[in-house]
Amino acid sequence: MLRRTKIVATLGPASSDQKVLEQMIRAGVDVVRMNFSHGTAQDHMARADKVRAAAKAAGRTIGILADLQGPKIRVRKFENDKIVLNKGDAFILDASLDGLGNQQRVGLDYKELPNDVDVGTVLLLNDGMLEFHVTGVKGTEVHCVVVRGGVLSNNKGINRKGGGLTAPALTDKDKEDIKTAALIKADYLAVSFPRSADDMKMARELMHAAGGKSLLMAKIERAEAIPVLAEIIDACDAIMVARGDLSVEVGDAAVPGLQKKMIKMARAKNKLVITATQMMESMITNPIPTRAEVSDVANAVLDGTDAVMLSAETAVGDYPVETIEAMDRICLSAEKETEGSLIDHRLDHSQFKRVDQSIAMSALYAASHFKVKAIVALTQSGSTALWMSRINAGTPIFAMTPMEATLSKVTLFSGVHPIAFTSDSKDYSVTLRQAEDELARLGMVEEGDLIVMTVGESIGKAGHTNTMKIVRVGEHKKS
Ligand code: PEP
Repeated sequence: MLRRTKIVATLGPASSDQKVLEQMIRAGVDVVRMNFSHGTAQDHMARADKVRAAAKAAGRTIGILADLQGPKIRVRKFENDKIVLNKGDAFILDASLDGLGNQQRVGLDYKELPNDVDVGTVLLLNDGMLEFHVTGVKGTEVHCVVVRGGVLSNNKGINRKGGGLTAPALTDKDKEDIKTAALIKADYLAVSFPRSADDMKMARELMHAAGGKSLLMAKIERAEAIPVLAEIIDACDAIMVARGDLSVEVGDAAVPGLQKKMIKMARAKNKLVITATQMMESMITNPIPTRAEVSDVANAVLDGTDAVMLSAETAVGDYPVETIEAMDRICLSAEKETEGSLIDHRLDHSQFKRVDQSIAMSALYAASHFKVKAIVALTQSGSTALWMSRINAGTPIFAMTPMEATLSKVTLFSGVHPIAFTSDSKDYSVTLRQAEDELARLGMVEEGDLIVMTVGESIGKAGHTNTMKIVRVGEHKKS
C-alpha cells in the first residue's frame, strides 16, 4: 500500500552509517533533514553523497532538506559543563563574559540580549525546562531570578516568552551555509526563526545568488511569525510547524490549534507543510512509541500535513529504523480515515489562473468522482503534481519526469510518488502510452485499471500541461 504522508528523518550520529541509512530508506524515509546547527560544510557534503548512495542502493528517490541554524540564542559553556539552579536563585546572563560560566553567571552568544529585555521579561531556557524572570539590566548583564530551576548545561537555548528578540533571521553563518546547501543541491532550504515575509525574500535572493534552486521553507517558531503567517506562507514554498521553539514562545497549549491552522492555510495557498518535533520522542530510548505519540502522528495526518518529521529520534536515538517503521504503520492506518475527506475543498469558489493548473484540478476532480486507480502527471517542474496533491482525493498521484531535481522535490508532496521516466517521442500520445506501459511494468497499475493522465502537447516544456486523458490500462495494445 502506498503511503501518502511523507516521513522526514533528521540525520546525526545515529544515522551516519551508510548501512543504517539504507535500512532507514527501505523502512520508509522520504526526505532527510541535515541540521546545519551541527557539522561543517565538508560534513554536509559527505553526508549528502552518502544519502544519495544509500538511496540508489535501496532503489528509491530521497529528498534532501538543508535546515539553517538561524539566530538560536544560547548560553555559552560552564567551567564544569553544567550547573543546577534552584527556585529563588539569582543568576546573571552576561553578554560580555568571554570565559567559562559558573554558579553565578554565564556568557551569551547573542550580545544584544540586554537590549531586548526589561524588568519582568520571562526567559525560558533549555526548551522551557528552566524559567528566569528578569529583575534588572546593568550594562551587558541581565540579572534574573530563577522561577523554575533545573540543570543548565553548555550551549542550551534561550527563548523570550511572547517573542520580541530582535535577532535577524539570517546570521553570517546561515549566509555561508546557504552556499553549502546550493553546492549539495538541497531540494529544500529551511530558514529558522523568520519573523516576516522579508526574511524569506532575503533568503531566496541569497540562495539564487549562490546558484541554489531549492524550494524555500519557513520554520514557524517565533511568536512574531503568527500574525503575519499568510504573508510568510506567500513568500515561501513550504512551512514547518516547528513545535519545539514555537511552544516555548507562544505557550504549549496554543500549539495544537496553530498546527491545524497552519496546515490548512499552507494547503489552501498551494504550499507544503511539515509537522515537526517530539513526534516519537520516547523512541529515542524505547523500541515502541507511547499511545500519546501514536495519536500525535495520526492527528497530524488527519490534519492534512504533507509530512511528519523525526528529530533526535533518528539523529541520536537508539532505534532509528524501528521509529520509521512505527511512523510508517501509524500514517498508513490514519490515512484510511482521511480518504477523500478534503474533496469538496475549493471546488466551488476557486479561480484558476493558469491552463496547467486548470488541467491538474480537472484531473483531480475526474479521478475522485469517477473512481480511478491512479492519477499520472507527466511533468517537468512538478507543479501539476503539487496542485493535485493539495486536495486529498485518496488516489495515488504518480509524478513521471526525466528531471532529477523534480523527482527529489516531489518526495515531500503528500500522495505524490516520483517515477523516473524519459520518452523518446515528441508525439504526446505516444509518450502517454509509453508512460502507461512503464507504470504497468513497475506494477503500479494493472491491465484494465482506469487512470487519469495529464501531459503537455509540446513534450518537455515546463508549464505547458494542457491535456487530460482517461485511459484504461492495456487498451491501446488491443487496437
Ligand atoms: C523546532 O523548534 O521545533 C525545530 C524543528 O527547530 P530545531 O530542531 O531546528 O531547533
